[in-house]
Amino acid sequence: MSKTKADAGKSEAKALSQASVADHRGGVVEDDGLLYPHADLVPEGGNVIPVAEGIYWARMPLPWSLDHINVYLFDEGDSWSVVDTGSMGKRGIAAWEALEEDFLGGKPVARVIGTHLHPDHIGLAGWLAERYGATLTMTALEYMTAAHLWMGGTKEVPEHEIEFMLKSGVDKQFEPMMRGARFDNYRRGVHQLPSQFVRIEDGSEILLGGRRWRVVIGRGHSPEHACLSCLDEPLFISGDQVLPNITSNVSVHAREPHSNPLAHWIASLERMKEIPGDPLVLPSHGRVFKGLDTRLSALVNSHVNKLKSLHDWCSEERTPVETFPSLFRRKLSGMDFYMALGEALAHLHLLEAMSLVTRSFDGDVNRFMACGAFDAVEVVAQTKTLPGVALRDLGDIY
Ligand SMILES: [Zn+2]
Repeated sequence: MSKTKADAGKSEAKALSQASVADHRGGVVEDDGLLYPHADLVPEGGNVIPVAEGIYWARMPLPWSLDHINVYLFDEGDSWSVVDTGSMGKRGIAAWEALEEDFLGGKPVARVIGTHLHPDHIGLAGWLAERYGATLTMTALEYMTAAHLWMGGTKEVPEHEIEFMLKSGVDKQFEPMMRGARFDNYRRGVHQLPSQFVRIEDGSEILLGGRRWRVVIGRGHSPEHACLSCLDEPLFISGDQVLPNITSNVSVHAREPHSNPLAHWIASLERMKEIPGDPLVLPSHGRVFKGLDTRLSALVNSHVNKLKSLHDWCSEERTPVETFPSLFRRKLSGMDFYMALGEALAHLHLLEAMSLVTRSFDGDVNRFMACGAFDAVEVVAQTKTLPGVALRDLGDIY
C-alpha cells in the first residue's frame, strides 16, 4: 500500500521485459491446435505478464491438485480491478501480499469481478473488500448460491446428500465413510463474502481497464457463470467456461437432483461459437491462448463422445456408479469419486431428456437403460432447444 509510483514503474518494466521474451518466441501452436502466445511462460510469485495494454495476468496458488488460478488485473488509473481472487488461506493471502509489494504500486484493488461462486474464484473477495474496500460484481445466481453454500456449511453431511449417493448406486458399506466426511469445505475456502454486491447479467455492459466488455453467461459448471467479451479489442475472459487442456466439472448436485447441467453446458459452449473475431482467451486455469472455436468444438465433442460411449454401455441396465467404466479411465476415490458421480449423472440426465435412456427405480437405487439410436449431430441440435436451456442469440446482446 505504501509503494511509490517509481516502484510501480519498475514492476511494470519487469513485467514488460517478461513479455518481450515471450514475444521473441512468437508463441507456439501445440498438439491441441491452440496458439499459446507466451509459449510456456506463466506468471509466478508477485510477477505478472501483460496480456494487453493495462491488463496483467497473475497467478494465485491453490492447495489442491489443480494448483493455481489465473487472476487478471486491470489498471484503472488510480486503482485496480481484478477478475477472480484465489481461494482463502495463508498461501493465497501471501500471494496477494507479494503482488501488493511487487506490482500494485500503492494503488488499491477497488473492484472484484467474480466469474462464479467457486472458492478459487471468489475465496478472497471478502478479504479484498476488507483490505481495500473493494466492491464485488457478480451475477445474482452466483452470489446467492455462494451465500447459501457459505451459510449452509455444516460438519455433519446432510441426510439428502447421503440419500442422493445411495440412490445413485454407491454401496451401502460406504455409508459410514460418507457420514464421516465434512460438509463445510465451501466455507473453509471462502472468506465471508461482502454483504452487498453489484449485479451483472447476460448482456450487461461493463467498463474494465478503459474498455467496454459484454457479459456472456455460461451455465452447467455453475449456475450463472460470467464470461466477459471485450467490445473494443479481441479479448475474451472465459473463467472456467473455456479452459485449455482440462475440462470443467459439470455435475448434478444433491441440492438439485433432477437438473440437466450438461444440456446447459453444451448450449452455452455452442452459443460461444458466435463470439466475433478470434479473441485472445484469458482462462482461469492453464495458459492464455488463441483458438476459441477450436477449443469450444473440442469441449463439446468430448462430451458427445462420452454420451455415445455411455449410451453403448447402458445396453444393459446400469446404476450411475456402474457407468463409470464408460466415462472415466482411472480408478476414483474421495472427492474425485464424488465429482465423477455428479458427472455421470449429468451425462445420464441429458440422455434421459433426449429419450435415449429410460430410468427405473426399485425403491432404493436408480438404474438406466439405453433406448433409441444415438445421433451426435441430433443430440447437440436438440440440446440447444430444450425448454429452459435455450439461450437467446448472442447477436441479440451484442
Ligand atoms: Zn469453477
